[in-house]
Amino acid sequence: MSASRRGLQHDVRHFDLVIIGTGSGNSIADERFADWDIAIVEKGVFGGTCLNVGCIPTKMFVHTADVAAAPRAGGRLGVDLSLDGVRWTDVRDRIFGRIDPISEGGRRWRAEENANVTVYEGTARFVGPKTLDTGTGEVITADRFVIAAGSRPVVPDVADLASVGYHTSDTVMRLDELPRRLTILGSGFVAAEFAHVFSSFGVEVTVVARSDLLLRHEDAEIAARFTSVAAEKWDVRLSRKAVRAERASDGSVRLHLEGPDGAEVVVSDELLVAVGRRPNSDLLDLAATGVELHPDGRIVVDEYQRTSVEGIFALGDISSEYQLKHVANHEARVVQHNLLNPTDLKASDHRFVPAAVFSSPQIASVGLTEEQAGARGIRYVSASQAYASIAYGWAMEDTTGFAKVLADPATGQILGAHIIGPQASSVIQPIIQAMSFGLDARTMARGQYWIHPAMPEVIENALLNLPLD
Ligand SMILES: Cc1cc2nc3c(=O)[nH]c(=O)nc-3n(C[C@H](O)[C@H](O)[C@H](O)COP(=O)(O)OP(=O)(O)OC[C@H]3O[C@@H](n4cnc5c(N)ncnc54)[C@H](O)[C@@H]3O)c2cc1C
Repeated sequence: MSASRRGLQHDVRHFDLVIIGTGSGNSIADERFADWDIAIVEKGVFGGTCLNVGCIPTKMFVHTADVAAAPRAGGRLGVDLSLDGVRWTDVRDRIFGRIDPISEGGRRWRAEENANVTVYEGTARFVGPKTLDTGTGEVITADRFVIAAGSRPVVPDVADLASVGYHTSDTVMRLDELPRRLTILGSGFVAAEFAHVFSSFGVEVTVVARSDLLLRHEDAEIAARFTSVAAEKWDVRLSRKAVRAERASDGSVRLHLEGPDGAEVVVSDELLVAVGRRPNSDLLDLAATGVELHPDGRIVVDEYQRTSVEGIFALGDISSEYQLKHVANHEARVVQHNLLNPTDLKASDHRFVPAAVFSSPQIASVGLTEEQAGARGIRYVSASQAYASIAYGWAMEDTTGFAKVLADPATGQILGAHIIGPQASSVIQPIIQAMSFGLDARTMARGQYWIHPAMPEVIENALLNLPLD
């Protein structure tokens, strides 16, 4: 090694552990790491996606939207309500007035009150094996790294999109004013949740989807039901390809589409792009340290969240196929354990990962869809139960919700569940528990009381309907 290289290394501060990203990665360094010298590197707002621009603010908007949508449901029940208005800036400022101080408080706590933690506020990039440029003018090294740098919105290839200006989930919740018309490009859960939020606030919403169904990754019957309910509330354009964006002289956005009936244009005041997210691995120059990637940009990890380089772990959206906060949190706990117990490693448990869509109606799912079970040649039976056929759903006069359960006919083992309807994200939890702890459908249905007349009776009845051997 040359003298100058050795000299450079003297200036490089060495840590026991470097964590890149303050979303789920920030929870790792607890009191058990008090005698570790730790660096945390963050390029943006402290606390990551979920706290600042993801799960938390969206659900605060969704709850507010559910309240705003109440008049629509009330009339049918004989309760006449009217929505006098939505004070958008008050809604927005209430939400971020609660979130922003948490983010800033977290940053201050780490930077000023954690004696063993050094915070670098910059965009990290590897410049050599286990050697990181912190983006602050300082290069650091460490024995161990945790890469928890998350993902970001994908920007689709639509001509003139950048010059016209568009929003993503990172910016749309901070709009200065509520638009009269909003076009949402995309058909996944982010698109579905924002369509509910903005339409409940009185915005005319158009949803443009490349696929012939919204939420096409859900069980096909659930996706079809959601798409037909959505089409009654929003202008839903399916099987459309967005080709060009244009800003008209009156300030409106014109999105040019190609669809089954040829060319068409959607005009609105704002455009929200919600076509998916990509891992932030490209920002990190991972080749410089030898960390391997999947073709889609996710970091390759084994069941212990170890990357291809000894001592470097990855977790959450940057490595996971799920892109869910409860998965990122679980993986962070696994990495935490494995850092503390290198001779007694724990594996991540990805057997039964549930997910929910907080739109209207809500959707929740866990395990196999019918399509996946069929494609994998798995023998299964399924049963569905309408919310309208259980007492509480009947009381609500719900007309569109149902729960579907899949099970192995021979053993009764539950293979999957898919729910669309009120509180689906909570109603599904007993199924997640049953699958996780190996409770079969018969035992689950008849081995416990089900509160009457509560919503989970929809699960009880679906289980009882399963045509098991
Ligand atoms: C609109 C929306 C709604 C969502 N709703 C839900 C929901 O209801 N339920 C759910 O389970 N999930 C939801 N998610 C997904 C969830 O937010 C993510 O799965 C989760 O936050 C991922 O956590 P993470 O720790 O992997 O990454 P993040 O929380 O994104 O943290 C990564 C951090 O790394 C930083 N970073 C990136 N690159 C660098 C770099 N080179 N140098 C330094 N720092 C860097 C980023 O600034 C960021 O702070 C939602 C996501 C969105 C966008």
